[in-house]
Amino acid sequence: MITANPHYKKLQGSYLFSRISKILEEERKAQPNLDIIKLGIGDVTKPLSPAVIKAFHQGVDDMATEQGFRGYGPEQGYEFLREIISTNEFPELDIKADEIIVSDGSKCDVANIQELFTQNTSVALPDPVYPVYVDSNVMAGRSQDFKDGRYEGIHYLEGTQANNFVPPPPAEHFDLIYLCFPNNPTGQVASHADLERYVTYALEHNALILFDAAYCAFIQDSTLPKSIYEIPHAKKCAVEFRSFSKTAGFTGTRCAFTVIPKECRIFDAEKKPTALHDLWIRRHSTKFNGVSYPVQRAAAAIYSKAGAEETENRIQYYMHNAKIITQTMETLGLTFYGGKNAPYVWVDTKKSSWDMFTEILKKTGIVLTPGSGFGKNGEGFIRISAFNSTENVETAMQRLQSMF
Ligand code: PLP
Repeated sequence: MITANPHYKKLQGSYLFSRISKILEEERKAQPNLDIIKLGIGDVTKPLSPAVIKAFHQGVDDMATEQGFRGYGPEQGYEFLREIISTNEFPELDIKADEIIVSDGSKCDVANIQELFTQNTSVALPDPVYPVYVDSNVMAGRSQDFKDGRYEGIHYLEGTQANNFVPPPPAEHFDLIYLCFPNNPTGQVASHADLERYVTYALEHNALILFDAAYCAFIQDSTLPKSIYEIPHAKKCAVEFRSFSKTAGFTGTRCAFTVIPKECRIFDAEKKPTALHDLWIRRHSTKFNGVSYPVQRAAAAIYSKAGAEETENRIQYYMHNAKIITQTMETLGLTFYGGKNAPYVWVDTKKSSWDMFTEILKKTGIVLTPGSGFGKNGEGFIRISAFNSTENVETAMQRLQSMF
């Protein structure tokens, strides 16, 4: 008898965004003239830049010629892209091209990597959290049931106002630690000292850190770490996930990469160190057939002179929006986090997240994201995304000012 994976039944599903859509639908019916502005979902709004589009077109044209046509490419990505990433993203960190594995998204990579570890791997992840870390481990059977807003059997690193939403490493032993900086949803960034504590922990505990740096391009403060490999010895115990999605508008085009240094070790059944890189390459080449050639050409163009300038302009555009949002929060006297080195602003509303979400929607037409959807510690908060046009952000902030 074919039997369903029982762990899927434990999942809380896409409760957050489906509930938002339902409430939005009802509100549209109740107030047909309500002018809706979405600052909820973290998707970019600006189109791909001219340099990226030009390279994308060129890639398609190449495919139409005998000489330029490519069939299956290398699963881990074309060398031209991995080389250019290595030199541009990690100029001083000595991350080699063959330690970079190109994929169609960080979401897939961050969800898939857990299958390289044993079922009884103990997992610690932050709360508030990007839900993919939790759900992929629940699907794999590493949790018990969902009770009081959390899965039993998973350890939550408590992100709170007391620690500025940068939780310290746990006191107990865990094998696998998820970190995300700049953070979705809080927009907070860990310092070198914060990350050093995690690297020390991972080395002491023979643990592995999964470092999600999907938003690192938004860091404005040059004293903050963009990569976990800025921390000495991190190559031994950390994997880093990077994405072109938010950096360069690839959410619909799909291209990302994962860094697994050759020296990054996990342990086999005999407790002997084994190279994680080899396992990931084995998985990737078995289950994935590479990102399309035109998309990889488009991604490489981000590092051309024009592409780099255009990409930076887009980032600054969103960060300008973030500034408009944080200035409004200051004017309103609300406590907030993030927005300085990340495209998200995390606001303490001093009310239930859902009540605040509904009240703001009804009175202003603005759609935000209730913080409680990211975990228990998100209760009372809302996340405001800077991904929209400056005009819409300005209008939304004016409406919020008249509401409060
Ligand atoms: N990691 C974080 C923290 C995110 O917020 C997102 C998308 O919202 C992703 C990863 C997914 O990135 P990608 O589009 O590369 O799959």
